[in-house]
Order: sequence, then structure tokens, then C-alpha cells
Amino acid sequence: FVTRRERLEQLATLGRFSAQMSHDLRNPIAALKGAAQYLKEEHARGHSWEAHGEFLDLLLEQVERLDRVAGTYQRLARVEPLRRPLDLNRLVEGVLSLQAFANPGAVALTKVLAPDLPPCEGDEDLLANALENLVRNAFEAMPTGGTLTVRTGADSGAVALSVEDTGAGMDARTRERAFDDFFTTKATGSGLGLAFVRRVAEAHGGTATLTSAEGRGTILRLRLPTAPALPSAVSEGEAA
Ligand code: ADP
Ligand code: MG
Repeated sequence: FVTRRERLEQLATLGRFSAQMSHDLRNPIAALKGAAQYLKEEHARGHSWEAHGEFLDLLLEQVERLDRVAGTYQRLARVEPLRRPLDLNRLVEGVLSLQAFANPGAVALTKVLAPDLPPCEGDEDLLANALENLVRNAFEAMPTGGTLTVRTGADSGAVALSVEDTGAGMDARTRERAFDDFFTTKATGSGLGLAFVRRVAEAHGGTATLTSAEGRGTILRLRLPTAPALPSAVSEGEAA
């Protein structure tokens, strides 16, 4: 049973959501349209495709971007994560090696990975995407450089992942609203990054929390339940 008020709130959220989605899709579509039109005119003038390799590259780039945007919205809409055994350390290694390319340059990357991390169960794509969002936020908080530290650890029945930066930090209002859909303090932000991160953590039965101080930096923490222990994993001593 849904009250009229709840229904109106749902419609308002849907409206903002659709507005954001069309905004995210329009930029790459506009670029695609421009490039395609230009190529068509050039072709009509008798110029060959070969002379316009860079425009074909641009077309391809924008199609890939559209694909990523569509993928993000699909993941946001997905409620049930796939549950597969997952090595969080390996996931961190993979994401960081890719994100290193997006590093504005002056940011030092540090990994502190627990050597005996228990396995967890989870959706590798969703979690990798969540981590990418956290790393991107950290880079964006450190435009003039700093240190990004990604840690993993075991934490009573859960595995923990934290992303720490020494960047701008958040004021009280931002700390309060950071996980809200569409909340952003950035000129071109979507405000969906941390909302997605929290949704992913909660869909895994875990949590996403933050600690931040203005001018000092921010720590984002994810806790994910460990995979239920297999009977064979119980050691002699504990089995008594
Ligand atoms: P977006 O990055 O598109 O703004 P997010 O949901 O990822 O959206 O983040 C919401 C807001 O939270 C950001 O606009 C920023 O104000 C704040 N924020 C997120 N991560 C950090 C961080 N690492 N350091 C400082 N502020 C942050
Ligand atoms: Mg973000």
C-alpha cells in the first residue's frame, strides 16, 4: 500500500532521475550528431573517409561513453547484486591500475592491503564501479595534489574497504547530504556517485559511511559481510 504522498514523492524522484539521465545522454549524443553530420557533408563533397580518421575515433569514443552512461543507469536500477566469491584485494588492484590513468598527476597512490583478508561474496562489476566512483571523488578533491590511500582489512564478520584522501574535505551540510541522490557541490557533478556507492554496499548487506574534515580530507568506508564459512574452512582447534 502506497499513500498518495509517497506516490507523489516517487514521481518527483522519477522526474529528477529522468532529467539527470537525459542530461547525461545528451552531451555524447550532441557530439555524435555533429561528427556524423560533418562526415556526411565531407563525403558529399567527395572527400574520403580516410582523411577523417579522427572524427571516426570521436564517434566511437562517444558511442562508448553512451554505453557507459546507459550501463550506469542499468546498474542503479538493479536491486539484486550477483553473489560470487570475491577477492577484494584483487578487485582493488584491478581498479587502481586502471584509475592510475585518470590521475591528475600530483596525487600519490598508496595501497595498504590486508594479506589474510577473508573472502566475501559480491558483484564484482558493481563493487568495481563503486570503488571507481570513490577514487574519482578523491582525485577531484585533490586538484593540486595529495595522497590517496586505499585500505582493505578484516573487521568482525566483515571485510572493510576504505578510500582516504588528503583533499578539500566536506563541510557539515555536505557531510549530511553527500549520499543523497543528485546532491553535488560540483559545477558538472551528477550527484549520483555516493548514492550509487551506498546502494551497492546495502545491496550486499553492508554499509557505506564517511568521515571528513574541511581542509583536511575524507575517508569513505565500505563494510561487506564475509562469505559464510565453508565447513572445510573450520580448523581443528575451532571445531571442538
Ligand atoms: P559528484 O561527484 O557528482 O558531485 P557524488 O555523489 O560522488 O557526486 O558526491 C557528492 C558530493 O559529496 C560531491 O559533490 C562533494 O561535495 C562531496 N564529496 C564526495 N566525495 C568527496 C571527497 N572525497 N572529498 C570531498 N568531498 C567529497
Ligand atoms: Mg562523484
